[in-house]
Amino acid sequence: MKPTLVLVGRPNVGKSTLFNRLTRTRDAIVADIPGLTRDRHYGHGKIGLKPYLVVDTGGFEPVVKSGILHAMARQTLQAVDEADVVLFVVDGRKGLAPHDKIIAEQLRKTGRKILLVVNKTEGMQTSIITSEFHELGLGDPCAVSALHGDHIADLIDLALADYPYEEDADAQQAKHPRIAIVGRPNVGKSTLINSLLGEERVIAFDQPGTTRDSIYIDFEYDQRSYTLIDTAGLRRRGKVLETLEKFSVVKTLQSIEEANLVILVLDAKEGISDQDAHIAGFILETGRALVVAINKWDSLDDYQRDVIKREFARRLAFLDFASLHYISALYGRGLKALMPSVDTAYAAAMAHIPTPRLTRAMLAAVSKQPPPRGGMSRPKMRYAHQGGSNPPLIIVHGSMLGHVPATYRRYLENTFRTVFGLKGTPLRVEFRTGH
Ligand code: GDP
Ligand code: GDP
Repeated sequence: MKPTLVLVGRPNVGKSTLFNRLTRTRDAIVADIPGLTRDRHYGHGKIGLKPYLVVDTGGFEPVVKSGILHAMARQTLQAVDEADVVLFVVDGRKGLAPHDKIIAEQLRKTGRKILLVVNKTEGMQTSIITSEFHELGLGDPCAVSALHGDHIADLIDLALADYPYEEDADAQQAKHPRIAIVGRPNVGKSTLINSLLGEERVIAFDQPGTTRDSIYIDFEYDQRSYTLIDTAGLRRRGKVLETLEKFSVVKTLQSIEEANLVILVLDAKEGISDQDAHIAGFILETGRALVVAINKWDSLDDYQRDVIKREFARRLAFLDFASLHYISALYGRGLKALMPSVDTAYAAAMAHIPTPRLTRAMLAAVSKQPPPRGGMSRPKMRYAHQGGSNPPLIIVHGSMLGHVPATYRRYLENTFRTVFGLKGTPLRVEFRTGH
């Protein structure tokens, strides 16, 4: 599981600036997709070799006893609870503030690993600025500038020092789909899991997951094998416990990370919220295979079904690579169609396409519609090979490919998807210029 870094600190110390800096490398993927904005508070990052998750908590005003700020403080503490490393950000220009001490004290009580990050230190003598922060008793402060990017790589090295670099986590994966079932509270995730595990003769047993809280449950459906990842404790938890406030985005993200396929559950009665869209965006970023299940279909009449179908088709246009299913988890309807889509998506995600076939498909697409010239340069595409799976990564080799526009990349993506029948998985196309 990727380590989770949680940013905590007073407002205006530079948390969101640091968040953007830590997640910058991944921005492009979602930014490229029309109709999808990313959630500013949760993101992937990779600086150096090790990937990680980053959570930016709202400003933390620990002394507020009620109201919205109080709720924010509670959510911050929940995020801290789920952190592997807490990055406690303070403002090197303003110096030590009384609130910093209160936050430090609260953080120390949690027993998490805490790094003290002194921000805004560009152009300053760091030993002088950081000395006053020793008083917080959180060890040696790291002086950085989120705005200029100074010492960010060192900070990440330090934060992730306890987490070994796993060369290729995908190499360890099982031969069958490892599924995360995700969605907002009350959409019917637990009900779906019970239906899947209970309907057929189940050989379910709990295995301790590789790390922390995840439980892996092997089960069979229609004589095919699957593993369910239950990071969020959906199967064990009493339903009353999951209120909106208790809902753990971090656990959701972690289970997506651990899965190779995600069933995104949406509620036909509630429509699509921003949170649904953010979770979908996150799935896209990770490149996991995806099947969308629109649940509670039983509770709508024909007219409502028409309306909802149109709304979902419009709002989920950016997920058009995935199969959409209308199901009733409660009555076990639609599952017989849902699970074959899981198999198809998994097979697409794991597909290995030989270089000659990829190259042929690519050359055919290019001769039908050549890439636009970029200024003086005429891009030339020579061959394509597959550089990875889950999601399939197709690398197009040639010359002058630096300025090929995103629209053309999407054109190639769609071509590969159609030619090779890659339903249910995101697809990445990269250009590599030789010489
Ligand atoms: P947040 O409220 O903690 O998320 O803080 P923001 O990231 O919104 O930053 C607050 C202000 O500090 C903004 O005006 C930033 O441009 C500024 N800021 C953030 N990081 C740095 C830095 O490294 N150096 C300087 N000089 N300003 C910074
Ligand atoms: P979770 O929070 O996503 O795990 O959602 P639950 O599985 O706990 O379901 C939330 C509520 O929706 C419960 O009252 C379920 O009985 C109800 N529910 C779940 N699936 C369906 C369905 O297919 N149809 C209807 N009508 N209600 C459902």
